[in-house]
Amino acid sequence: MTIRLFNTMSRKIEEFKPLVPGKMGFYSCGPTVYHYAHIGNLRTMIHNDILKRMFIENGYDVHHVMNITDVGHLTSDDADSGDDKMEKGAARDHKSVWDIAKFYTDEFLRDYDDLNIIRPTDMPRATDYISEQIDLVKKLEELGFTYEIPGDGIYYDTSKFAAYGQLTGGTLTGNRAGARVEYNSGKRNPTDFALWKFSPKDEKRQMEWDSPWGIGFPGWHAECSAMSMKLLGNHFDIHTGGEDLSRIHHTNEIAQSEPITGAPWVSYWVHFSFLVDKSGEKMSKSKGEFLGLEAVRKRGYDTMVYRYLILLGHYQTQLAFSWEAMDAASAGYKNIVRRVAEILSNPAPGEFSQSEFNIWHDKILAPVSDNMKTAEAIVQVQEMLRDSNINASTKIALFEFIDRLLGLQFIDRAKKLNDLESETAPAEILALAAARTTAKNEKNWARADELRAQIDAAGWTVVDTKDGAKLVKKA
Ligand code: AMP
Ligand code: ZN
Repeated sequence: MTIRLFNTMSRKIEEFKPLVPGKMGFYSCGPTVYHYAHIGNLRTMIHNDILKRMFIENGYDVHHVMNITDVGHLTSDDADSGDDKMEKGAARDHKSVWDIAKFYTDEFLRDYDDLNIIRPTDMPRATDYISEQIDLVKKLEELGFTYEIPGDGIYYDTSKFAAYGQLTGGTLTGNRAGARVEYNSGKRNPTDFALWKFSPKDEKRQMEWDSPWGIGFPGWHAECSAMSMKLLGNHFDIHTGGEDLSRIHHTNEIAQSEPITGAPWVSYWVHFSFLVDKSGEKMSKSKGEFLGLEAVRKRGYDTMVYRYLILLGHYQTQLAFSWEAMDAASAGYKNIVRRVAEILSNPAPGEFSQSEFNIWHDKILAPVSDNMKTAEAIVQVQEMLRDSNINASTKIALFEFIDRLLGLQFIDRAKKLNDLESETAPAEILALAAARTTAKNEKNWARADELRAQIDAAGWTVVDTKDGAKLVKKA
């Protein structure tokens, strides 16, 4: 099937053409592990996952690299000055930088798995690729792109790279006008950035390495150029990240890489829009107060409901998070799960139909392949559920495919629902359920629906299983 994606570089939706037929290599900027991931970071990870699953379902062999940033990310906008985020996090937690890197990487991966995100093929840590980053800076030095600011570091001279700023349509001047930070006075151009930072003279940092320029640590952007080239080669298909990364981080990655690899280094740039709060503010770790996936768990939501909420939106549009939106997503998600539970317990599932399967498979895969329109795919899933011409066997096979594509674990949750014993419901709910069974036996569907609505309104869900109707208390 044709795959189309919005390419930030061309500002157009383009048809995807792989560098190597049947293969897709992509790099996504991963977490900075100085704190828990917030649900905004995780939104970006869910979109990465959909991108990957969509390619897999289209028959591609996918190689996914995601870095773990455990060094070099300073607190200023351009990450070249201010405090070191890792050192700050370590001081806050009264632990070593190495300990917090491990702790928050493990916590991140717990959330990653809990959201059913397929793990990357490679997950390199920046601190494991210091020599590759030093080699990158050496190459740029040989090519004449660098200069030293004494006592500060080795910097990239952006005026030497003619295509600087192309990703966001900016120029050197344009980016300067948009800049919000006080620039280091030693820089030749405001957009110049650190490739290697020197450790302060009178201070021993917890993370520092020797280099041809003295003891220090790499600039934030170096890791992504060095590790992607090492693991994906000098040219690869797709590079992704949150929308904040295009203006500085990805712009600088391109400036560091293309003098070495030749242009274009990456074929398609895909950026995911932010998760914001009700007032439109970006969710961010540096503000200190943010929602992690733990808040979602603590409120009793299935984490799949968060994934479902994200898939109801489009990656190019900001999404305002609220608990009301979660409640609406929860009702929608559970409704599908309940229907799948009923299909699974159908005593006469019928013969699987390949032709019906193919029709709906394509109807569901097409919108996702067309610039990742997941919400449209969910509409198709609901229509398929309503189609009474498709039997249970075919629907089950379709849900196996839907679970592979969208990762929403419908079958797993439906099986769990079917395995649940009826909880002890109050007598009046049991009476309503019994009346509903009678109505169903009499084929009085309107009455049965009415009784289901009454049970629902009282805070219970009735699920039809092969062993009869069961009652489950709503979360
Ligand atoms: P960080 O851990 O801050 O380095 O960010 C990891 C990923 O999450 C990056 O791709 C960011 O662009 C992305 N990101 C950060 N904040 C948000 C947000 N509020 N919504 C969506 N993605 C975000
Ligand atoms: Zn990056």
